[in-house]
Amino acid sequence: MLQEKLLLIPGPTPVHPRILNALSQPTVSHVSPIHVDELKEALSKLKKIVFCERGEPFIIAGAGTLAMEMALLNTLAKSEKALILSQGYFGKRMAQIVQSFGMDCDVLESEEAKAVEPEALHTKLSQVKHAVVVSTHVDTATGVCAPVRDYAEMTKDSGSLFIIDGVCATGGMEERMDEWGVDVVFTAAQKCFGVPPGLAVLVVSERAMEKRRSMESIPAYYSDLLNWLPIMKDPSKYFSTPCVNEIRAFNEGTKIILEEGLERRFLRHARVARAIRAALLALGFSFLPEDQYLADTLSVVRYPDGIEDLAFRKTFFANGVVVAGGLGNLTGKVFRMGHMGNLSISQVYFALDALEKTLASVGYAFESKSGLSAAQAILESQ
Ligand code: PMP
Repeated sequence: MLQEKLLLIPGPTPVHPRILNALSQPTVSHVSPIHVDELKEALSKLKKIVFCERGEPFIIAGAGTLAMEMALLNTLAKSEKALILSQGYFGKRMAQIVQSFGMDCDVLESEEAKAVEPEALHTKLSQVKHAVVVSTHVDTATGVCAPVRDYAEMTKDSGSLFIIDGVCATGGMEERMDEWGVDVVFTAAQKCFGVPPGLAVLVVSERAMEKRRSMESIPAYYSDLLNWLPIMKDPSKYFSTPCVNEIRAFNEGTKIILEEGLERRFLRHARVARAIRAALLALGFSFLPEDQYLADTLSVVRYPDGIEDLAFRKTFFANGVVVAGGLGNLTGKVFRMGHMGNLSISQVYFALDALEKTLASVGYAFESKSGLSAAQAILESQ
């Protein structure tokens, strides 16, 4: 059955039974006390997850791309310029969004397998005034993890707002909004929160909210944070019908995150990432990003000679695991394996066992159990 496959694509990620159960409860009125409490709870927990005390959280029907659009349209005025730090596919999308609204941006593009150097950001900011700097935390096409904390540091004194696209990181990797000086973190439900797709999620600093208030009008209606703010403050009010079941599921997802504990959750992500990479290395694979840019949430894995992409992924699927192919010019050369959200250690072992079975089926020579034991050494170490 389809449902029995382990979903290790870069999102959606496996959905915990508690979240599925929350999703399946009867739909209630969007202005009922039940929904009001659930949305309030979810908003308050969301702020904790990004270490934000004073900003404003938003949970809105949509997906990550809506969150990208909202973050930009509410902080960038028509006459201003954004600076986009692009480490791949989703940095490029951010630039497309700016351009499609007739606005202006500079793009600093990283070399393949690397992130933009913080010094390059520093230089650019000293040359040109940018109202907003945006970076993807983990680019989902390349698997490159960018040094967003360093970027925030560099941007702090420039007067620019700093926005993180955390779609492939938030809730699985540290993002300390207040301490680092981040103005917007946005994500979507289906990645590290482990909730089915359907929500755009943002936390916006006081400074960024001030910026929105300073702009008389923006080219948006559904995406205008000022239309949503009264609802986030008092969910019994109406602006546009919220997806009550999905919000209930998201609330359950945030509960699971805080029950695990943020520090423990980040460490688990880091450890699972190291274990999976150790297994893949032992089996002869390598990684697209250079070592310092590897992400805790996602691996973009280069095939060794002798493995054909489609045959490999089809057999891996038959053995119970779904991974994604490469995007753009990486098609056929890499596969992408998510390891974020509520992934259990037994699921990791299942995936690695299925990987070895797959390699044997496609006729690839390797030392049996070498991947599993490399991972085990990390997962069982203290
Ligand atoms: N940013 C990043 C880093 C992403 O990984 C994605 C989705 N893969 C998006 C933005 C867009 O999100 P969505 O597909 O939910 O619109």
